[in-house]
Amino acid sequence: MKDSLSLDDCVSVLNAINTTIEENVNTLCELDSVIGDGDHGTTIARGLKAGVEAVDAHKPASITDLFQLMGKTMVSSMGGASGPLFGSLFRAMGTASKDLEILYPADIHAMFEAGAMKVMKLGKAERGHKTLLDSLLPGIDSLESSIANGTNLHDTMQRMAEATEAGAESTSDMIAKSGRARYAGDRALGRVDAGAASIALMIRAFAETVAH
Ligand code: ADP
Ligand code: MG
Repeated sequence: MKDSLSLDDCVSVLNAINTTIEENVNTLCELDSVIGDGDHGTTIARGLKAGVEAVDAHKPASITDLFQLMGKTMVSSMGGASGPLFGSLFRAMGTASKDLEILYPADIHAMFEAGAMKVMKLGKAERGHKTLLDSLLPGIDSLESSIANGTNLHDTMQRMAEATEAGAESTSDMIAKSGRARYAGDRALGRVDAGAASIALMIRAFAETVAH
């Protein structure tokens, strides 16, 4: 069983993320349509597709370059509010990987932590605002406790995926305080946030890639 990720593994993770989002475009647009403007699925799918195509064309030589290229391409191809947020998440993860050739769970944690901090700094949202942070932050908490317990990479990522999915689910009880959805007020109740749902799909794809 893998205990770490190489550059090639990271490329596989990004490809798996692109595939899962492509398969869920309609669901993500539908979630965004109730309380946002209905474009989240197509926007995130466009950004990820452009990102993996850029990776395929330029074949980055390090994990740092890989995530930075992915993020930079997402920022420029997505636009809207989510382009800079999702793109910066990947970019900051690249910077935090510090030219490491192999990622162990603690490195993966440092990358997600840096990514989430960047999103919070840019978007000024906090936990409970019904955004992508409400799935990402519980996922990072789980990552942290798995590391403290010395859990292997496979189980660490499975648990992170579960925590992220539970986090996404929990957004249905929240009224949005950030993003377009904040104009929806009570209408947001009973609906999962689209960005939180797409993060959950991404982490699940990450976990499944590590499982193989
Ligand atoms: P737009 O809001 O420009 O239409 P998308 O529909 O692609 O962009 O993405 C919307 C998602 O972005 C939301 O569901 C939410 O998860 C996330 N989001 C919006 N604003 C913020 C913010 N300030 N901080 C964190 N995430 C945010
Ligand atoms: Mg939208």
